[in-house]
Amino acid sequence: MSHSLDVLQSRIEGGGRVSADEALFLYRFAPTWWLGRMADLIRRRKHPEGIVTYIIDRNVNYTNVCVARCNFCAFYRPVGHHQGYVLSFDEIFRKIDETIALGGVQLLMQGGHNPDLPLDWYEDLFRAVKSRYPSFKLHALSPPEVVHLSRMSKLSPPEVIARLVAAGLDSIPGGGAEILVDRVRKLLNCYGKATADEWLDVMRHAHRAGLRTTATMMYGTVETDEERLEHMLRLRALQDETGGFTAFITWSYQPEHTERGGTEATGIEYLRTLAVARIVLDNFDNLQASWVTQGGQVGQLSLAFGANDMGSVMIEENVVRAAGAEYCMDEVEIVRNVEDAGFVAKRRSMHYEVLGDPMFRERDLPRQLELATARAAGDTSVPAELVNYPARSAAAKRQRAQPPSPVA
Ligand code: SF4
Repeated sequence: MSHSLDVLQSRIEGGGRVSADEALFLYRFAPTWWLGRMADLIRRRKHPEGIVTYIIDRNVNYTNVCVARCNFCAFYRPVGHHQGYVLSFDEIFRKIDETIALGGVQLLMQGGHNPDLPLDWYEDLFRAVKSRYPSFKLHALSPPEVVHLSRMSKLSPPEVIARLVAAGLDSIPGGGAEILVDRVRKLLNCYGKATADEWLDVMRHAHRAGLRTTATMMYGTVETDEERLEHMLRLRALQDETGGFTAFITWSYQPEHTERGGTEATGIEYLRTLAVARIVLDNFDNLQASWVTQGGQVGQLSLAFGANDMGSVMIEENVVRAAGAEYCMDEVEIVRNVEDAGFVAKRRSMHYEVLGDPMFRERDLPRQLELATARAAGDTSVPAELVNYPARSAAAKRQRAQPPSPVA
């Protein structure tokens, strides 16, 4: 592989595209400062006004019960496990109330593949949310969750998406992509939950149905450099086709408490991956800094390596927290990091429309960290409304068959 940095620099400066081979050369051999310079140049071309955005929303994991059993995941509990939970509608409403009190505009809702939550549970929940909070947005259900619902309901993914949209779904988060190469997915035990093609197809159908979505990449497990780039190139091709992705977010695998174990990629590897993503994904407008996994300081540095967005300010991210990522920043902290890096901080919607200046400068707000509550481990209460849906798993059927415990 012999390429010249000068040739690639003039191509990138002229707005040209890099090939798979050239991207691999850059990822492996370009100096880190050079990658940062090119990524920053593209970021400035796409966002010349020097604004860095973020969204006030809340990450809610509605259930941790999951049949997929990905071996990089520290969050899930098998069906029937004593620490399995499902949030009640009332708990979700309470979280929305708190989010709105902090100026939040949407819920990012993702969860395990729970066989006892049928499609109509999601439809009832979305309808209930929309009737209580008509302008509040639901950014929910990553492609593998859509595939799971499609299998359970025996409806095609486009039919599932249409039903969810009719119930109130606004957009789809790009989770569950890991690496979009089936060799890797088999090794991570996530091929069964969705193949690379299935993930991309859900996004294709969602975009065709008029939804905007994000795209993610989790690197640092078993994949090769070529496979990371194949992932990016598959996203680039779909974006050429549909234009439906709003943003790309990459983070490193968080190994703590997972079946797979291993070590976490370094900060430099993160910055190089982010910068190469900015160069390769020339048809993506927005790149998020993943400060939840990288910490505020590397998150801030990301702004010099192609990122133009700080993601969500309100953290209730049980999946990465369960695997050891514990960074937490509220709006005050995000804005401090953005401004200290020389940018103007603005609040945005999921569609990246600027909504305004930092909320805490407009009105008095409680510090968000006080409200960002992870569910206490071991709380396994079963929400009352679950009896409205037939039990499907053997564990849930057994539990339903038990007589109610006597009231003291
Ligand atoms: S990553 Fe998601 S699908 Fe995989 S085991 Fe964890 S909760 Fe289940």
